[in-house]
Amino acid sequence: MATESFGFQAEISQLLDLIINTFYSNKEIFLRELISNGSDALDKIRYASLTDPSALEAEKELYIRIIPDKENKLLIIRDTGVGMTKADMVNNLGTIAKSGTKGFMEALSSGADITMIGQFGVGFYSAYLVAERVQVISKHNDDEQYIWESAAGGTFTITPDTVNPPLHRGSEIRLYLKEDQLEYLEEKKIKEIVKKHSEFISYPIQLAVTKEVEKEVEDDEAEAEEPPKEGEESKIEEVDDEDDKPKEKKTKKIKEQETSNEELNKTKPIWTRNPQDITHDEYGAFYKSLTNDWEDHLAVKHFSVEGQLEFKAILYVPKRAPFDLFETKKKRNNIKLYVRRVFIMDDCEDIIPEYLNFVKGIVDSEDLPLNISRETLQQNKILKVIRKNLVKKAMDLFTEIAEDKDNFKKFYEAFGKNLKLGIHEDAQNRSKLAEFLRFFSTKSTEEQVSLTDYITRMPEVQKSIYYLTGESLVAVRDSPFLEVLKKKGFEVLLLVDPIDEYAITQLKEFDGKKLICVSKEGLELEETEEEKKKREEEVTQYNDLCSTVKEALGDKVEKVVVSNRITDSPCVLVTGQFGWSSNMERIMKAQALRDSSMSSYMASKKTLELNPSNPIIKELKRKVSEDKADKSVRDLTYLLFETALLTSGFALDEPTSFAKRIHRMISLGLDVDDEEEEEESAPAAANDDAPPPLEGASTSAMEEID
Ligand code: ADP
Ligand code: MG
Repeated sequence: MATESFGFQAEISQLLDLIINTFYSNKEIFLRELISNGSDALDKIRYASLTDPSALEAEKELYIRIIPDKENKLLIIRDTGVGMTKADMVNNLGTIAKSGTKGFMEALSSGADITMIGQFGVGFYSAYLVAERVQVISKHNDDEQYIWESAAGGTFTITPDTVNPPLHRGSEIRLYLKEDQLEYLEEKKIKEIVKKHSEFISYPIQLAVTKEVEKEVEDDEAEAEEPPKEGEESKIEEVDDEDDKPKEKKTKKIKEQETSNEELNKTKPIWTRNPQDITHDEYGAFYKSLTNDWEDHLAVKHFSVEGQLEFKAILYVPKRAPFDLFETKKKRNNIKLYVRRVFIMDDCEDIIPEYLNFVKGIVDSEDLPLNISRETLQQNKILKVIRKNLVKKAMDLFTEIAEDKDNFKKFYEAFGKNLKLGIHEDAQNRSKLAEFLRFFSTKSTEEQVSLTDYITRMPEVQKSIYYLTGESLVAVRDSPFLEVLKKKGFEVLLLVDPIDEYAITQLKEFDGKKLICVSKEGLELEETEEEKKKREEEVTQYNDLCSTVKEALGDKVEKVVVSNRITDSPCVLVTGQFGWSSNMERIMKAQALRDSSMSSYMASKKTLELNPSNPIIKELKRKVSEDKADKSVRDLTYLLFETALLTSGFALDEPTSFAKRIHRMISLGLDVDDEEEEEESAPAAANDDAPPPLEGASTSAMEEID
C-alpha cells in the first residue's frame, strides 16, 4: 500500500514530546478540542453550501458523534464537516509550523495550564494527552479518503483508505487510548465532559450508547427439526394476534446490544434566551466555548435590537489580551456572524472596527440573506447598522467596567492600546473613547488618572490640559519642561506609551479644553500682569544674547528666545507646534521602514529657549555684553545646546564631539596639561562644524557649569 511517511515540523514534534511526557491533570480537555475542530469543520461545509448546495450532497446530516469502543480501547470522534484532503492533512496536522506552537510551549514552561492549548491554535495535539496512537480518517469533497496516523515520535504516515467504510464526507478521529485513560470510554464520563466544555456547540453532539436489551426470540433449537421457511414469521404473527393459544412455538429471552445515538447538547442557543434567565455561569460557559479561553470573561453585554432591523448579540470583554493581539496576519476580529441561527462566518471584516478586535461575541441577524457572499457583505447597509450598534454597545460595556476601579485597571492594562488606536481611527467615537484614557501625571506617578479627574482638580486660572510625551516615566518625570507648570501648581499628564502621542494629537481637546504639549513652541501660560511685565523686560534685556547664541549655533536651531516655561534649567529645546515632538522624532527614527523624506520637515524646527533667571545664562549674557567675540562663548553655547538636546528628549547627532567638549571641560577641571590634550583635539578642531577648542576658557565659567 502506498503509505507515505512525513516528519513533524520540529516545534510540533517538541510540543508532542511535552504533551506526552509531562504530567497534566486536565487531560479531559482533549475532547473539547476535538469537538471544537469538528464544529469548525461543520461550519466550513455549511458556509460553502450556502453558495453551492451541492457541497452537502455526499452527506446531508451535520453532526458530531462520539463512539466509545471498549473492546478495542478506542474512542472515536466523528464529524460530517468539510473533511481534509491529503494535502490538508499533511499541512494542518504536522508539517506547517503554527505561530502558536512556540508560544504555547513558552507559556507552558512559565506555568501555563494545558487547558490553554486551544487558544494557541494547536488543540488537535491534545489528543496525545490520552491516546498513544491517533488515526485521522478524512474525506473531503475534492479528494479520496485517507488515513493519517501517528504514535508521535517525530513522524506520521498518510495512506489511501481502502479498509474502512466510506465516510462520504468529514473526519473520524480514532484515539487508541493509553492503558490508564480508559475512563474516557465511560458514558457517564463523556457526558460530564461534554456538558462541561462543549454545551454550546451549535451542532448536535451525539453519543453512541449501547444498551443491553432483552429480546424474546424464537428458540431456534426447539424448532431445529423444522427450520422456519421464508414468510413463516408473518404467518405466526397472524396466529399470535388471535386470542387462542398459538401453535406450539418455543421462544426464549436473549440479551442483545442495541446502539442508539443520544444527543448531548439540546440547549437552545443562549443568545435567543431571555437575559434574565441566564446565569453568570452560563454566560461564562458560553464565552469559553466561543473563545477557547480558560478563564471567565471580564464583562458581558447581551442585547437585542428591534424595529426596522433585528438582531441579537452578545459581546464579551476578556480578562487578558491574547498573546497575538497585534499580530497583523491574524484574522481581524472575533465576532461570529449568524443569520437566523445559522453560522455564517467568524471573520467578517466590517462587523466591528479593527481597534475593537479584542471584543468577542456573536451576532445573529434576522435580516441578512443566508447566502450572502463575503464581497456583497462588505457593502451591505444592514451590516453597517449592526456595526454601529456593536460599537455603541461596546462603549456602554466599557463604561460599566469603569464603574469598578480594579476591573478597569485590568481592562486598561490589557486593552488600553486598542482604545488609543480607536481615538486615532474612529473620529465619531473619539470623545467617548477619550473618557476611558488614563495617564500618569506630575501629581500622580503611581496611579493613572482620567482626563475627567484631571479637569476636576485644575486650579481656576488654568484653562488647558497640559501633557508631555517621552520614553518612560523616569525620563519625563523631572523634565525641564515641567518646571514652571509645577511651580504654578498645574498638573501635567505624562504620556509614555508610544501610541499616546498618535492618539493625543488626534484628540486635540477634551470637554472643551485644549490639549497642549508643553515641549512645543508657543506655550501660552496663564500669567499675572506682573509676570507678564517681567518677561517682556527680560525679552529686551536678553535680545543680544539670543542673537549671539543663534549666530553661534547656525542652522542647528530655528530661533533662540527667552523662555517662559523653565525656572531652574538654563535652557530647553522646543519643537514647532505642528512638527514632531522629541518623543515622536525618537519613535519615527526607530521605525526601520519609514519614509525618511518626511523627517526632514517634520523633525527639524527646534527653538532654543533660554532661562533668564539661570546663573549660567546670566553669566553668559555678561560675557557677551563685555566682548561679543569671546571665544569661549561659542564653545559654551554648544555645550548648552547639546545638553538641552538630551534633557529635552532628543538624541545627539554627534555624540563624539559632545564627548570631546565634555572631556576638555574635565581636563580643565582636573588641571590636565593643555599640551597633551591639544594633540588629540587637533582633528576635531579641523572639522568645520565643530566650534574651536576651549582655549582661554576661564575656570570661573567652568565652576558655573558645575
Ligand atoms: P485550530 O483548530 O486552532 O486551527 P488545531 O490544532 O485544533 O488548531 O487544528 C489544526 C487544523 O487541523 C485545523 O485548523 C483544521 O484545518 C484541521 N483539522 C483538525 N481537525 C479537523 C476536522 N475534524 N475536520 C477538518 N479539519 C480538521
Ligand atoms: Mg482546534
